[in-house]
Amino acid sequence: MVDNPRTGFVFHPAYLKHDPGVAMIGWPPRPYPYDDQDPHVESPRRVSRIKELVDKSGLAQHLLEVSPYPAEIPDIERYHTADYIRRVLEISVVQGGGDAGEAALMGEGSFEIALLAAGGAMAAVDATLQGRTRNIYALLRPPGHHAVADKGMGFCIFNNVAVAAKHAKAVHNVDRILIVDWDVHHGNGTQAAFYSDPSVVFISLHQEGLYPFDSGTVEETGEGPGEGFTVNLPLPAGTGDMGYATAFEQIVVPIARQHQPDLLMVSSGLDPSRSDPMGRMVVSADGFRRMTRLMLQAAEELCGGRLVMVHEGGYSESYAPYCGLAVIEELSGVKSAIEDPAAESVAGLRPSREVSLDTERALQEVREAQSRFWKL
Ligand SMILES: [Zn+2]
Repeated sequence: MVDNPRTGFVFHPAYLKHDPGVAMIGWPPRPYPYDDQDPHVESPRRVSRIKELVDKSGLAQHLLEVSPYPAEIPDIERYHTADYIRRVLEISVVQGGGDAGEAALMGEGSFEIALLAAGGAMAAVDATLQGRTRNIYALLRPPGHHAVADKGMGFCIFNNVAVAAKHAKAVHNVDRILIVDWDVHHGNGTQAAFYSDPSVVFISLHQEGLYPFDSGTVEETGEGPGEGFTVNLPLPAGTGDMGYATAFEQIVVPIARQHQPDLLMVSSGLDPSRSDPMGRMVVSADGFRRMTRLMLQAAEELCGGRLVMVHEGGYSESYAPYCGLAVIEELSGVKSAIEDPAAESVAGLRPSREVSLDTERALQEVREAQSRFWKL
């Protein structure tokens, strides 16, 4: 343990015990017909392997370990309905597993693990706002950003980042928050949580047309007093490092400067990675490093460095862990000896190296849709 570590790290072995069952295909999802079933894509390995790289690289000794605690029911009720929470408890505890809504599969014990995931995001907020750490990565599962008030969706039971942001406002009296969601899927649940709330700006970068199929368009900009405080960047398949960096430089960072948040949060899905089975983006570990740097610089400039990252999706068990390591290295300012093993083989992948016309067009559409609200 180093003196005064800049970066905190939340993890708990119980996060690996959440069991969403066997691999599924299609919509609505159904099991493959094979006799020997594969594990579900939302597998423990996608988190345990990041932890493994953080440990093996020696990075762990430069991080402040922050223990998660189980969220209590009133914490979860800041976003989710009492009815839904009861249903999750019943499915998990009484039935021993099942679907908490729309492909939000749970096994035995998932209720408690989901409470510990939400509490992990809350503990990350506590550590950062109490000044125990400057920034922090909460490596947890199940993920959260699809879960809406009364329904689990897309592998998400409770909306960890939304519950933690509401905790920051209620308990730590934080006024203004910016949540940036770079998961390859639209953060519909988080958007819904703050859709009419002008104190929380929600920006989602995602691949257009992915799950959830009916949300995440540029026209969704918030409602009532929250109008103009939701920003969607639906990007074309094939967007890579430069496309994402340009989106951050031209849209995300300028909005951050105009909103002047007291706390910056990131829903860190690693599924825009170049090898993800659930998305068709081509972001490399270096691309994630660059997005992290831009968020870090924004946090340093705007809110005393207070940056809380909460893990979401990311389904390439072999490659995404390198992206996770790159993010945490960049947060901490410590570069480990573990290199991206695919760096050379992807150097020739043009979409990851330049901004395509399709991506430029998509960013232009965002600028036009948001020009009433922000100077971009
Ligand atoms: Zn995702």
